[in-house]
Amino acid sequence: MKIDCKHVWQHISAYIDGDVDAVLRAEIDRHLETCEICSAVLDSTRNVVVLMADDRVFELPAGFSDRLHARLDHDLALNEGS
Ligand SMILES: [Zn+2]
Repeated sequence: MKIDCKHVWQHISAYIDGDVDAVLRAEIDRHLETCEICSAVLDSTRNVVVLMADDRVFELPAGFSDRLHARLDHDLALNEGS
């Protein structure tokens, strides 16, 4: 199984929660080792989750994922252009 950045973003919350199966987790781990973008996404997503856990809010606000993905698409486009 080969996964790309969008797969990682799709599963990033479950990955942080330890809620992905071992095969997928291994694929994400391998992807993160070679992909700076997804490493940054993991860091920022983790920070958001931690902050929200501190506030006892466990659901991401509506539209959070869409906005994150839109930003990532933008960053990816910039990367590809350079
Ligand atoms: Zn990636």
